[in-house]
Amino acid sequence: MKTYDAVIAGGGIIGASIALELASAGLKVAVFDTQKPGREASWASAGMISPSPESPAMASLLPLSLASVRLYPEFIGPVEELSGQSVGYRKDGALDIALTEEEARGLSEMLPQHRAAGLRAELVNPQQARELQPLLSSEVCSAIHRPDEASLDNRLFTEATLEAARRKGVEIFSGNGAKGLWFEGSTCAGLQLETGCVAARWTVIAAGCFSARIEGAAPYAPVIPAKGQMMALRCNAVRLQRDLWLGHNYLVPRNDGRIIAGATVEYEGFDRSVTAAGSRQILNAALSLLPGLDKARIEETWAGLRPDSPDHLPILGPTDRNGLLIATGHFRSGILLTPITARLVREWITSQKVSVDWAPFSPMRFQHMRQTRTA
Ligand SMILES: Cc1cc2nc3c(=O)[nH]c(=O)nc-3n(C[C@H](O)[C@H](O)[C@H](O)COP(=O)(O)OP(=O)(O)OC[C@H]3O[C@@H](n4cnc5c(N)ncnc54)[C@H](O)[C@@H]3O)c2cc1C
Repeated sequence: MKTYDAVIAGGGIIGASIALELASAGLKVAVFDTQKPGREASWASAGMISPSPESPAMASLLPLSLASVRLYPEFIGPVEELSGQSVGYRKDGALDIALTEEEARGLSEMLPQHRAAGLRAELVNPQQARELQPLLSSEVCSAIHRPDEASLDNRLFTEATLEAARRKGVEIFSGNGAKGLWFEGSTCAGLQLETGCVAARWTVIAAGCFSARIEGAAPYAPVIPAKGQMMALRCNAVRLQRDLWLGHNYLVPRNDGRIIAGATVEYEGFDRSVTAAGSRQILNAALSLLPGLDKARIEETWAGLRPDSPDHLPILGPTDRNGLLIATGHFRSGILLTPITARLVREWITSQKVSVDWAPFSPMRFQHMRQTRTA
């Protein structure tokens, strides 16, 4: 039987980045995936690196988000160098748009919270907003400019991180996923794969919204899929200068000229279909922001499954089984939280200490659900 220092179930951006970080610290690491790695949520994403909480309920994520934003340059540097691939990182900022008085009030209410967290954010009038984004709708009521927000091409990023991990010696197995955890008493001894067992001192569950399907993992990672429909537009008449937000919908520019438009949030199990209603929602928002996009070509539509947890917060950290860690539940923020997730898992595995408090995201916080279910 093969033995590693660490085995990781899941080769999305979370599993790939943890593998890279651990291999860079000198560990012998393997990643196991049911399919070709990097083809699920990490592929479907919009790639925004946006730490501003979308609602007051998400404010508890801020320390983690800000730490991740700070780590981004030092994380992608080695990824690009080792893989020889660009990840399309761009720090253009974002404009959050209000088209009605009610939306404007909602934006103003979030402003003090963003500023208190140290995020640069300023209220701009319609004329200033149109200077920041030419051809913006004449209906704009007000906007918030957040100059420090960034984005990258998540497909390139995931591919490049997997390649960088390979070059650091990580063994990546496609089509050989985890069926279950391998427990020996209170210790997790590794994974049960389709092809037999693999032993490791450390086992990390990073299988995105599929994590709860791995036998033994569900009590620690009770995640469900939250479907997001997306589309890619191309339009010579409109040049998107920065991320634009309208409520929970957005437009994101890519270096190759495409405009990524999203997204729905739907709870439909593991269904990945693109629907008429989903496309209508995305196009309505896109055309309300930039009416000139009515000439845009729809180049691609797709849907992906975000890993969502019962409280919509990530599930990160050790469990009551020796050697077992969970890194999932990143919901709408997995790209944003990639560098800090990889860093904290590496710190725990190499020194059993972490530089940012991850207790609020502990996999043990769901134990009461387990007790209720068995009661
Ligand atoms: C439409 C959409 C837009 C998004 N936009 C953003 C954004 O702008 N910014 C942001 O920060 N986040 C965004 N997200 C969220 C982000 O993409 C996710 O949180 C992140 O990609 C999750 O990464 P992951 O590696 O945990 O999961 P995934 O990428 O889903 O990877 C999980 C991997 O596990 C594998 N797997 C499944 N079962 C098993 C098994 N039994 N054994 C082993 N492997 C298994 C899968 O094949 C897959 O490769 C978006 C997500 C979607 C869907």
